[in-house]
Amino acid sequence: MGTYYEQRNYVLCPECKEEHFSDEVEFLDCYEGDRGQDVMKFVCPVTKKETESNVYRGRCYGSTILA
Ligand SMILES: [Zn+2]
Repeated sequence: MGTYYEQRNYVLCPECKEEHFSDEVEFLDCYEGDRGQDVMKFVCPVTKKETESNVYRGRCYGSTILA
């Protein structure tokens, strides 16, 4: 048993004010914002509405491996 860390991109959803993993929402489009940041258009899984957010990287999520 141990702990591993994974890095997953996520977005801060303006629709429901929650964080969503970028690979767990319905991806619509991606473009470069005015500061060179990645902006992703997606469908919020809570409100089912199209929205967009900067993409945040490098957050580590610890998970416990059940061996
Ligand atoms: Zn949302």
